[in-house]
Amino acid sequence: MPPEKKQKTAPAAPGKPCPVCGKPATAAAAPFCSDRCRQIDLGHWLTGSYRIPARDDDVEQD
Ligand SMILES: [Zn+2]
Repeated sequence: MPPEKKQKTAPAAPGKPCPVCGKPATAAAAPFCSDRCRQIDLGHWLTGSYRIPARDDDVEQD
């Protein structure tokens, strides 16, 4: 296996553009602008290796 440099989690740096939507990131959700974008980015990662089960409330109870 080739030596791979792992990216360390960057500290909260508000002011940087959100990698998802480009809006200024906030300290609360850095490096994203919001938790929503964080989830979106996380979804991109997950879909690369895993499948996210759709959560549809399609359960019919009688
Ligand atoms: Zn964003």
